[in-house]
Amino acid sequence: MGIVGECRRCGDCCNYNYQVMNRATMEYQGGREFYLGKGAEIMEIPKGNELRSQGKYLVRIPEPCSHFHMEDGVGRCDIYERRPPICTEHPHNAPEYFLALKLFNPECGYHDEQSRP
Ligand code: SF4
Ligand code: SF4
Repeated sequence: MGIVGECRRCGDCCNYNYQVMNRATMEYQGGREFYLGKGAEIMEIPKGNELRSQGKYLVRIPEPCSHFHMEDGVGRCDIYERRPPICTEHPHNAPEYFLALKLFNPECGYHDEQSRP
């Protein structure tokens, strides 16, 4: 998967934790109730995606980063020069995370170049 594009600084990935969960966690281990209790949104994998046949779910959990703020309608990081690798390498470091982010937030400025004609 090649992820290309440019950040629009909406702040979504600084304010939410995106996860791909397996069915066992979600249905048999109380995951659905656990994440709903955290205010999370849960989405089934869309038809046509290989993860759907594996019974996975997408989860978006509100977890605002304390270093994030909006300024003049643009997202800003208070520690931009010192932000951790999980942020500097985003969104190239975790394809499943990016799949969840993009399906919850189609307006993200990045996209998977293989998913477009
Ligand atoms: S969701 Fe996409 S556009 Fe928005 S801040 Fe994150 S990488 Fe940038
Ligand atoms: S450290 Fe900065 S880039 Fe990373 S999540 Fe927080 S605000 Fe966003």
